[in-house]
Amino acid sequence: MARLPDGKSYPFDDGRAKSFEEKLEAADLEDTFSIPYRTGPIAPVTRENEDPGRIRFDPLFHAAYGATQEQVDVVDITFLGQKLKVHRKVAPVFSRVEKRLEAVLKQEPSLRPYLTKVGGTFNWRNIANTNRQSAHSYGVSIDLNVTRSHYWEWAKPKHPVKWANQIPQVIVDAFEAEGFIWGGRWYHYDTMHFEYRPELLDPACRAE
Ligand SMILES: [Zn+2]
Repeated sequence: MARLPDGKSYPFDDGRAKSFEEKLEAADLEDTFSIPYRTGPIAPVTRENEDPGRIRFDPLFHAAYGATQEQVDVVDITFLGQKLKVHRKVAPVFSRVEKRLEAVLKQEPSLRPYLTKVGGTFNWRNIANTNRQSAHSYGVSIDLNVTRSHYWEWAKPKHPVKWANQIPQVIVDAFEAEGFIWGGRWYHYDTMHFEYRPELLDPACRAE
């Protein structure tokens, strides 16, 4: 059993064998760890449904950050000169990422366009074309400049899925170093998207 901070308990593994789609729709905690997240050099993701982090167990997010829009405790932060709303618990993490990115920009000022017009931090909504709650609902995610990004849903044609990316390695490294996962590591790529998921980057949470 897994006991969450709000006092509720859930089986870690519900014992059901699920397809990828079923894991997305009805995950247990075990499912959320079923695709290992790997850092390191950026590489095209070609294995179908290799989407580490897209399987989310909503009760964990609800317990950690709030189960309704009103419950999500959002604060204003300044991030690389832009005003953003993020969850109070994660504000210090955003600040650490900002410091890393400031150092990156000092070395490579030409990368600034990737880090302007960032947004989508706090937005209580569903994922596009689904009934599933977006990770943006909890104020723990950020989207970089859309015009420098690739999203599988926007590709034409949408099928077959063909990974594409132009987000630079040093930007990805800065976020991952602070516990964010990146949507560019997904077969269903969303390269503007970074999401605070320290459990997926913690070796202690990795299955053998
Ligand atoms: Zn996003």
